[in-house]
Amino acid sequence: MADIKHYRELLKTKALSCTELTEAFLSAAEKENPELNAYISITKDAALKTAAEVDAKIARGEELGPLEGIPVVIKDNICTKGIRTTCASRMLENYVPFYDATVWELLNAQGAVLIGKGNMDEFAMGSTNETSYFGRAKNPHNYDYVAGGSSGGVAAAVAGKLAAFGIGTDTGGSIRQPASFCGVYGLKPTYGAVSRYGIVAHASSFDQAGVLANSAEDTALVFDAISKRDERDMTSVGSKVSSYENLGRSIKGLKIGIASEDLVASDEEVNAAVENAKEIFKSLGAEIVEIKLPFIKDCLPVYYILACAEASSNLGKFDGVRYGYHAEDYDDVWDMMSRTRSEGFGDEVKRRIILGTYVLSSGYFDAYYKKAQRLRASITKEFDKILDTCDMILAPTVPITPLKAGAQMSPVDLYRTDICTCAVNIVGLPSMSVPAGFTENDLPVGVQLIGGRFKEDVILNAAYAFEKATEGRYIKSLEMGCGI
Ligand code: GLN
Repeated sequence: MADIKHYRELLKTKALSCTELTEAFLSAAEKENPELNAYISITKDAALKTAAEVDAKIARGEELGPLEGIPVVIKDNICTKGIRTTCASRMLENYVPFYDATVWELLNAQGAVLIGKGNMDEFAMGSTNETSYFGRAKNPHNYDYVAGGSSGGVAAAVAGKLAAFGIGTDTGGSIRQPASFCGVYGLKPTYGAVSRYGIVAHASSFDQAGVLANSAEDTALVFDAISKRDERDMTSVGSKVSSYENLGRSIKGLKIGIASEDLVASDEEVNAAVENAKEIFKSLGAEIVEIKLPFIKDCLPVYYILACAEASSNLGKFDGVRYGYHAEDYDDVWDMMSRTRSEGFGDEVKRRIILGTYVLSSGYFDAYYKKAQRLRASITKEFDKILDTCDMILAPTVPITPLKAGAQMSPVDLYRTDICTCAVNIVGLPSMSVPAGFTENDLPVGVQLIGGRFKEDVILNAAYAFEKATEGRYIKSLEMGCGI
């Protein structure tokens, strides 16, 4: 299997040099990207430089770290020093950060090889990648379908073997949903497990960086590498348990909650995948318990009110004065700001800024923002209570199967497809999407495993057990990308 262990073995046994491995990924990326559009930038020079350093280390006979020399794709809202970081927006089209986000700093220090920056929905707002200023990333399983969003480019690159693993961000589902659509693993960690420092904020109290990978084992390995406490993010906690070392435990007796009334998909193919996963977990000795999540119906409005409010405030800094896009023609400073923002942001971003400003405005603050905050607190209490009665929750990742490109859904209909993912962000729990089936037309379907706070090891171990029991049959190796 083309996983991290496999690439590491190639380097260790000197079957390939790191430069050769990197070149293979780079040329696959260069070949596929004009069509797939998974990358906004391919970082050839940086990749070859790191690869040469890894080769020098190998030549000195030094042992390599677990991610050393391994090709990675990083979502383009994660700051990379000296490398353009666009957020898929015209606003930041030419923005080159002068510092690294902690998550990239950690991987860079561990010798991971940056192949490029992943395409995404503009400022991580969207579910199809179609709001990207650079055009949509396509689904590598079928180019007529969307890769999902907002980390669609990262999911497409990982599924298409244009990188061994990827780092995305998830505010309301943006790691898990594209992972489900592209047939890879996607872990959104507990809020606070991974530092947000240097990640361009969408909605700060929801945002969390996480992993997209081709196996449960790879996901655990990378999660361990990035879940460190960071002084520069005051909500950072890190993770105390090694998820990787805890893989392989029996899941006999694991209590799995299913909310078959409240958390169900509208598409029967998705429900069938959940049902099938349930049976597999049962056969492994897990105990299935029926749970109730009546508050799920409140999660969409709560998420969209609060996330838009936070986004409207976070995006206030893009005013044409400090950095980013700057309008050419204007009358005075107010006109300059207005034109900069009108020209620099796309429609979806503007819609959310307007919505967010509205719910924060003095006349509506109590009715919307405050009420949503109160609901958030009670949803959190309820969810935590439920996770005292079971070890994890099994649910659909997305209520629908991958969307066709250009489906032209109304914004609200598209927002509705976040129903299964955004609850977890409201509460801050860890959750992952696991490949668990295929549709009739051979597109991937994922299921979601939701765990208790900082219990990533539990869901990763369950995902690992599931993958072993199903002998990886829900992971399709595509005829593309790096053939190594
Ligand atoms: N689809 C969700 C939204 O548009 C998810 C965004 C995200 O997680 N970054 O808000």
